[in-house]
Amino acid sequence: MIFEIFTLFPEVFEPYLQTSILQRASLRDLVNVNLHNIRDWTYDKHHITDDEPYGGGGGMVMKPEPVFAAVEGVLGDPPCCPVILLTPQGRPFNQKTAFELAQNHSRLALICGRYEGVDERIRQHLATDEISIGDYVLTGGELAAMILVDAVARLIPGVLGDPDGAIDDSFASGLLEYPHYTRPAEFRGWGVPEILLSGDHARIARWRREQAILRTWQRRPDLLANAPLSEQDRRFLKSLEENNDKL
Ligand code: SAM
Repeated sequence: MIFEIFTLFPEVFEPYLQTSILQRASLRDLVNVNLHNIRDWTYDKHHITDDEPYGGGGGMVMKPEPVFAAVEGVLGDPPCCPVILLTPQGRPFNQKTAFELAQNHSRLALICGRYEGVDERIRQHLATDEISIGDYVLTGGELAAMILVDAVARLIPGVLGDPDGAIDDSFASGLLEYPHYTRPAEFRGWGVPEILLSGDHARIARWRREQAILRTWQRRPDLLANAPLSEQDRRFLKSLEENNDKL
């Protein structure tokens, strides 16, 4: 997977990309992140990338010329891959979106806005998709891009040490994930559920499934409506509902 990131602040990406799993993925050429400084595509003396909004009001708006020049300079005209504009007005990003991007594309371009955002013509005539990472407003699209890269990258085969690592993750199966424990078996008097020490893999799998359903029911009941549940899962869910007052 290749990510082409267009930003005014490429330096903010480096430390994160050069750490842990993403660094290994990059060294193994599973994920490549190419950073493009939009300012390099300005042709005026002061390398200006923003200007005052037409119609007045505060804040600055990112100019269209350098952004179009940067994206088309790297990806051609028309661009050879999807061009995602990070914006709080975009479609909400979630695990399903991450799967969709990881499965359907081998190259993605991300445009990071700043200030009041980008000139509307970038959204209309250059971006092919608009993504928001949540209902809040950041100062710039860099963190949003990094979140998208991180969530998509870990779904690329080979990126996670454990090939099944993402299968049980929260949201991947429509449920929140079950709780995890590691050594020591007792810490400050708090033990680990006996079943996890039993070595009985079938019972452990069932316990984890039930814990995932319980967690989702307690914390995100909205997810249960679309979660694929077996008959056995449904019986467990019904028992939770019936014993609600005792839990
Ligand atoms: N004035 C814009 C609005 O109200 O829709 C917000 C502009 S924001 C201060 C500057 C840039 O940060 C945006 O152009 C976008 O690239 C990025 N950004 C901010 N919040 C975001 C979010 N929730 N998701 C994705 N990108 C975001």
